[in-house]
Amino acid sequence: MPLPIVAVVGRPNVGKSTFVNRIAQADEAIVHEMRGVTRDRSYHEADWNGVDFKLIDTGGIEMGDDDAFQGSIRVQALAGADESDVVVFLVDGKTGINADDEVVARILRRTAKPVFLVVNKMDTPNRLDEMYEFYQLGLGDPWPVSAMHGHGTGDLLDAIVEKLRCIELPQDVDDDPGINVAIIGRPNAGKSSLTNRLTAGERSIVSDVAGTTRDAIDTVIEHDGRRYTIVDTAGLRRKAQIDQDVEYYGFVRAMRAIDRADVALLVIDSTLGLTDQDQRVAGFAAERGCAMVIVLNKWDLVEGPEAKAEIRERIADRMTFVGYAPVLAVSALTGKKVDRIWEAIDEAYGNFSQTIPTNKLNTWLAAIRETGHTVTQGKAILRVKYVTQTASCPPQFTFFANRPDLVNDNYERFLENRLRESFDLVGTPIRFKFKKKD
Ligand code: GDP
Ligand code: GDP
Repeated sequence: MPLPIVAVVGRPNVGKSTFVNRIAQADEAIVHEMRGVTRDRSYHEADWNGVDFKLIDTGGIEMGDDDAFQGSIRVQALAGADESDVVVFLVDGKTGINADDEVVARILRRTAKPVFLVVNKMDTPNRLDEMYEFYQLGLGDPWPVSAMHGHGTGDLLDAIVEKLRCIELPQDVDDDPGINVAIIGRPNAGKSSLTNRLTAGERSIVSDVAGTTRDAIDTVIEHDGRRYTIVDTAGLRRKAQIDQDVEYYGFVRAMRAIDRADVALLVIDSTLGLTDQDQRVAGFAAERGCAMVIVLNKWDLVEGPEAKAEIRERIADRMTFVGYAPVLAVSALTGKKVDRIWEAIDEAYGNFSQTIPTNKLNTWLAAIRETGHTVTQGKAILRVKYVTQTASCPPQFTFFANRPDLVNDNYERFLENRLRESFDLVGTPIRFKFKKKD
């Protein structure tokens, strides 16, 4: 089930992240902290009065060193309006309206989406007189809140959720959307070319699912008797014709696609190598628990075994945090090796959705216990007694131990490496939980 999206837009310092953090429930960290990737805090799940939704802080998306795209207020507003079901436009009640607010307001006045104009930093009720100024933004009644102290946020959420209840989300036209594959990667990496290659000649079940902007680029096809939903994240950009900000915009879109995906297909332009954004998107997919296949596209342009070896090496070096993802070199242009992608998707999905029997896991555990690798603290010794798989998509393993508090990164890495050696986990992230059992 897709969740409705609430996008929070506004210029820097109005309190967007404070607001989002107040509303989003603390993410219960089953996620096993990834090395080398900062957790992306700009995307949260929340619920209020039993309505679940996603909250995007469009200002909190960092674009690495790409200053040109950073914090572009206009794109934030566009992405917010386009990608979401409800927009929360945050302004600063202390400083009042400025030119950036006007820019955002102008864009938001044109959207058909519900927009909540929220005046933050109204920490004391006696300042409510100052609310009148905000009517001039032309976005209806302003909602006073204090993100810091929580005043007003309950009423606001009631109203937002009321709107969300009325929104009809595009449902899957068919009961079986098959394997959801998100094609992600930077502009010009070859996503559309690859999507066309993959879908050409296959039996198309539906295209342009639901016909709304948000899902207009989903294609459901059958390949070798199996069903896939292919989500090409390049499509919308063309439609929206945003030039200078494509990268930022594409990122928001990629996050959306990843969120629904079983398998993320990360397309990299081999002639350009890996960018910060590739890493960031990969990190995001790993964090959301998607299976992943890395596609080195435009391989036809890479000349000579040395250049090829170097590109592969660099990927291996810089993508260690998704070291489980298979890497395929293809050419969307000539079609060479593109067929291999199907096999890789099937394998990654199979591993992602599998359930490993408990007896096998415990035989494995008994064997690795023999190696003597453990954690000690003073006289205490970590003893892992039992393991069972507690979820799939992606697989989650719960270990029962005498002192789960002793488990550290090193030990988790040890377990992960051993587990991957013994079971078929190519293409899928895995999660660990540790529970106490004496
Ligand atoms: P962002 O850049 O829009 O994400 O803004 P932040 O959430 O980082 O907040 C910017 C500054 O405003 C921080 O110093 C916050 O502590 C402060 N701030 C946020 N919300 C409130 C509020 O409701 N009242 C007051 N007084 N300060 C706030
Ligand atoms: P997108 O922005 O990621 O969807 O990228 P496109 O599919 O639009 O491709 C961008 C450009 O790269 C186009 O000019 C394509 O023809 C070209 N291109 C895509 N794949 C390949 C490839 O495998 N080899 C070569 N030489 N060019 C490619």
